[in-house]
Amino acid sequence: MRGYLPDYQLTTATNLTDALIQMEKGAKPFAGGTDIMVLLDAGSLTPGSFVSLLDIKELRGIKIQKNIFTLGALTTYSEVRDHKLLQKHFPVLCQSAQEVGAIAIQNRGTIGGNIANGSPAADFPPGLLIYEALIHLVSRRGLRTVDYTKFHSGYKKNLLENDELIHSVSLINDFKDYHHFWRKVGSRKAQAISKTMIAGIAKLNKKRVEDLRVAFGSVAATAVRCYHVENFLKGKNLSPNVILEAKKILGKDIQPIDDIRSTGKYRLAVSQNVLEEFLCGIGSDK
Ligand SMILES: Cc1cc2nc3c(=O)[nH]c(=O)nc-3n(C[C@H](O)[C@H](O)[C@H](O)COP(=O)(O)OP(=O)(O)OC[C@H]3O[C@@H](n4cnc5c(N)ncnc54)[C@H](O)[C@@H]3O)c2cc1C
Repeated sequence: MRGYLPDYQLTTATNLTDALIQMEKGAKPFAGGTDIMVLLDAGSLTPGSFVSLLDIKELRGIKIQKNIFTLGALTTYSEVRDHKLLQKHFPVLCQSAQEVGAIAIQNRGTIGGNIANGSPAADFPPGLLIYEALIHLVSRRGLRTVDYTKFHSGYKKNLLENDELIHSVSLINDFKDYHHFWRKVGSRKAQAISKTMIAGIAKLNKKRVEDLRVAFGSVAATAVRCYHVENFLKGKNLSPNVILEAKKILGKDIQPIDDIRSTGKYRLAVSQNVLEEFLCGIGSDK
């Protein structure tokens, strides 16, 4: 049953300090509301006060300084999807944004909300893991920066303190000559929570793997970087036998479970197949 509305208060912060003061008093952040409103509708949103971040200009927009791209926490999927320079340098993020929910969700949902909500099936995290994003957190105590690879500590757990907001995410544009790959596998092409998803980047040097990063979503308690696969492939020529071995090694990095959307067995098999698709495409650009 839907949550009882008088149990909730929502105020709008006009600036960052105002929001942080309200959070010190116990308010929870409210961005696009696309996750929060689902909980409200299902009757599982804990009663309390919320502070809307939507009027805080400092949390908006995509800024580029030299080779650093900074995405404010309120950046929406549509803004990422349509950004020409992100498409060029961080295509995995744009492709994942393009496949989120449907257009209304893409217009409303934010990168900060997607990260903070911490669903294992969230679409931005695998891309942020392979591009090794930095995440900037702000509270009245100041700003701190965390490696995104260390941000999620377990199912729906992360390094955010109660009085802290995600301020922005930054990415270093350092992926010239890389092959970029994204694939989301769900029941449908749109409005589907994924059964598995892969984000990968790789660079070859004389046909051998110089750098390769791969991450999966929906196959563990959080999105995961596949370090066993990465370490195995570094320095190798991507022959059919090497690819076969990498598919077997993937089982050390991910341990998908059975749930209402799929079985662990199916998820592992499909994850191995999309890993193969990624590896077979490396070196095929241009
Ligand atoms: C129909 C539908 C389809 C969807 N499809 C997808 C999909 O395909 N892929 C996908 O990944 N997601 C999907 N979602 C989930 C959702 O849209 C995303 O997770 C979205 O990015 C959440 O952002 P938001 O701004 O709406 O977050 P909100 O709902 O406002 O907040 C979500 C959580 O994050 C916290 N939060 C928000 N902003 C901040 C911040 N700056 N700092 C700290 N905490 C913060 C809130 O307190 C709350 O706990 C879907 C949702 C719906 C309703």
